[in-house]
Amino acid sequence: MKLATFRRGPGPHDQGRNELGAVIEGERIVPLGALARDMIDLIARWGAIGDEARRLAGAAAETLPLSDVHLLAPIPRPGKIMAIGLNYADHIAETGAATPAHQIWFSKGINAVTGPFDPVDIPRVSRFVDYEAELVTIVGARGRHFTRDAAPAAVFGFCVGNDVSERFWQNRTAQWVLGKSFDTHAPFGPWITTADEVGDPHVLGIRGIVNGETRQDSNTRHLVFNVWDQLAELSQVMTLEPGDVIYTGTPGGVGAAMKPPRPLKAGDKVRIEIDRLGAIENTFVAEG
Ligand code: ZN
Repeated sequence: MKLATFRRGPGPHDQGRNELGAVIEGERIVPLGALARDMIDLIARWGAIGDEARRLAGAAAETLPLSDVHLLAPIPRPGKIMAIGLNYADHIAETGAATPAHQIWFSKGINAVTGPFDPVDIPRVSRFVDYEAELVTIVGARGRHFTRDAAPAAVFGFCVGNDVSERFWQNRTAQWVLGKSFDTHAPFGPWITTADEVGDPHVLGIRGIVNGETRQDSNTRHLVFNVWDQLAELSQVMTLEPGDVIYTGTPGGVGAAMKPPRPLKAGDKVRIEIDRLGAIENTFVAEG
């Protein structure tokens, strides 16, 4: 099943109210009405209301063309966003870093969340804005100390994400958090594809495309620490909760590693595609 958060009308997302919907046939959305308050509520109560959501989607009593709605980030305000660094061999090689012995985690600011087709800032103070195509895991179950074997049952679904990164701010200090947390630098979506529909998340082609030029072209089978390793590691430290967002790392081909390096500039369009999950596309704009 594909679950989206949307507003009616293609206009700015500060108008109207958020609604939940099921995407069918890749091009229409079925509003789910008052089934849940928001996506986090839907995920938390999925065991009780998932069947009803499927029934509503199947009945399709009302449908809207996707072109008539504004898709927001499926979870506009997640409890937390965690992201892993240096997690594909080719990306590790292009950065010149050593293969990490331990998973390298950082957080992204909640204010960084933006929609799958919304503008993304080139911040006033930035020197080098970059893209990172990433599989995004959406947590389904609240809990700690998940084993690798128990981790799949704790996942609700997956999205396409861009871990937008300001390299100058990222690398001028030992901690990457500021460089990863500029407002609008966490677009994801276009919807959540539920885990049952995705199947094995470690066989998905993933691509990062800038102005039509494919810069990243890899497969999630090349993750160093896979999705289950990641949930096991994180949940030793913190309680994972329904709707938490986890960026799982980017393959090689980022702008900072090109020769010469190629930062994003205003007007650039960055499209991220992942097999079975769809695509997001954001235009970069000078911060207003
Ligand atoms: Zn990343």
